[in-house]
Amino acid sequence: MFDAHVHAGPDVIDRIGDDSDIAQSFADSDYDGFVLKAHYESTVGRAYAAARATGLQVFGGIALNQHCGGINPAAVAATLQAGGRVIWMPTADSHTQQAAGLPRLCHGAPRLGQHSYALPPVDQSTMAAAESVLQLIADHDAVLATGHVGRDECRWLLERVEYYGIKRVLLTHPSYTVPGLTPSEIEELADRGGYVEITCYQLLHQPGCTPELLAEVADAAGERLVLSSDAGQPDSPNPPAALTLLVDVIAAQGVDRGRLGAASGEVPLRLFAP
Ligand SMILES: [Zn+2]
Repeated sequence: MFDAHVHAGPDVIDRIGDDSDIAQSFADSDYDGFVLKAHYESTVGRAYAAARATGLQVFGGIALNQHCGGINPAAVAATLQAGGRVIWMPTADSHTQQAAGLPRLCHGAPRLGQHSYALPPVDQSTMAAAESVLQLIADHDAVLATGHVGRDECRWLLERVEYYGIKRVLLTHPSYTVPGLTPSEIEELADRGGYVEITCYQLLHQPGCTPELLAEVADAAGERLVLSSDAGQPDSPNPPAALTLLVDVIAAQGVDRGRLGAASGEVPLRLFAP
């Protein structure tokens, strides 16, 4: 199995374990590897160290939030040139996150101010920087993850993906509160080449999320489904157990187990591996 979305400490909030703890738990559970994500730090060096220590395939990247100035091509170039495999568009500092009142770094550091980030067409002033970021992702054949940006920004990204020839696109938990896309909107973006992520975090913590909705999203994704834990919270199961739980819950809705196995194994591994 392969978990395409995991959080570990050290982080700006409490996590269930540090990189060593989490990597060891994946190794003990016979996983092939995982993607280490942080909202406020490049995980490239941390992923490298975890891979060296365990022999697993561990990939890192950067989320374009306030710590790196948002949609910042220099941060992206440094991340990808050092071996990063994924660039997440703004997550915790996306305008959608701000509108939904979900946690952000500035809540604990009020001196920062409340600035949030958006892509075209929501904020046309980020066009040039966003185009540079996409060109860099194409140059490195890396993964573009949509982060928490909204429906119209996801549509814009998919248009530009075609222009730049980006092959690896992951719609970050599109049915989560942010961005909050419907199954039919998700199907449209999957048809245009996006892989569709469903996370165990949604199952455990998203208000109003049901197994029925997740099964509907899984159907909308077709063969482009990626299951991940997005675990690492102290009140979630350990990430390997969380991903197994997600597979079992969606399978209980009648979704084919073989397809769910691929979505938590070969599909994300192929998406992230260089
Ligand atoms: Zn996450």
